[in-house]
Amino acid sequence: MKIHEHQAKEILRSYGVRTPKGGVAATPARAESVARKLHDKEGLGFPMVVKAQVLVGGRGKAGGVKLAHSAEEVRARAKDILKMDIKGEIVKKVLIEQGLDIAREIYLGVIIDRARKMPVFMASAAGGVDIEQVAAETPEKILFSPVDPLIGLADFQVREMAFFTGIPKSGMKDFSGIVRGLYQAFLDLDCSLAEINPLVVTGAGEVIAADAKMNFDDNALYRHPQVAELRDEAEEAPLEREARRLKLNYVKLEGKIGCIVNGAGLAMGTMDIVKHFGGEPANFLDIGGGAKSEQVAEALRLIVRDPKVNTIFFNIFGGIVRCDLVAQGILDALKTMPDWNTPIVIRLSGTNEEIARDMLKGTALIPVGSMSEGAKKAVELSARA
Ligand code: GDP
Ligand code: MN
Repeated sequence: MKIHEHQAKEILRSYGVRTPKGGVAATPARAESVARKLHDKEGLGFPMVVKAQVLVGGRGKAGGVKLAHSAEEVRARAKDILKMDIKGEIVKKVLIEQGLDIAREIYLGVIIDRARKMPVFMASAAGGVDIEQVAAETPEKILFSPVDPLIGLADFQVREMAFFTGIPKSGMKDFSGIVRGLYQAFLDLDCSLAEINPLVVTGAGEVIAADAKMNFDDNALYRHPQVAELRDEAEEAPLEREARRLKLNYVKLEGKIGCIVNGAGLAMGTMDIVKHFGGEPANFLDIGGGAKSEQVAEALRLIVRDPKVNTIFFNIFGGIVRCDLVAQGILDALKTMPDWNTPIVIRLSGTNEEIARDMLKGTALIPVGSMSEGAKKAVELSARA
């Protein structure tokens, strides 16, 4: 689960991370009054920065982060940014914050390193930009510092990160508070990622978190009801929200081949084999081991709502699930989709597969004999579409 920047900053602030003062607003008029209050009551000067609160990254590049030199200008910039569409997400709130005199932008993040089986810090003097790009092009610019949770974050690690990123002496206290606070929040709240990008070194040599991102492990949310409450349903991918309601395990991806599979392992295998043949899956979807025809129909109706999908690949292994019930589900769903024209490749093997094959005879579905044949066929059809 993701939360907004202003929420992440609030959490991190409670862990002693230094962040700019600010306030949130949902209308231009509110934004102006937040700016006035920050100015009159908190002694903040201009410029202030107006920032779109959306759950996707790259807001800066998309025009969702703007400076303003007066309260009126805050209102104008808020007007520009509110309702803006950033990568498919409509901006409903802006954060108004103290503008920073940025001398340098640093990257600081913690993630779970599955290979090392422990949290690992990443620190880089090349902050502000996409860390994925830095990692791909100039990995030597990132310091990886794994933290054994049984030992904890050692002082020497904090110093090493400070030296590596060139933190000035004047900012050491801020920096150490930020690194320690980020780590403790990450640990306490079962984060999968906690990131500050950029961590700003100001002209005066202070260090302050200009952005904040926290992702939480969904499986641990039951331990943190106060975090779970922050879920912004309206900003989740609508298809994922719908899938959660239908109790389907669905993750939206970027490709064009919609995959409908029973079993998580087979679903992962299906994505691998689609990629192996040069295609891109549009989603991960596990309809479950004991899927009945109704779930199959719902899964199919869900998948076709993704406008990118131009081919569908059913990969069903009938163990507990019966192939004839899956076939029935597909036929039921298609009855409700009269103008359906997306090719559907279907691999059904296992229990009652002969019955299923007979049921699908005479339809426009494209039956295949094996998983690899199906993946190949789906990739071909998708490329042609
Ligand atoms: P992101 O693009 O979604 O990651 O949003 P960020 O919060 O990281 O902002 C993007 C960029 O805007 C930063 O890298 C900074 O260069 C710039 N920025 C953010 N806050 C301020 C500020 O207070 N003052 C100035 N001058 N620039 C800022
Ligand atoms: Mn950022």
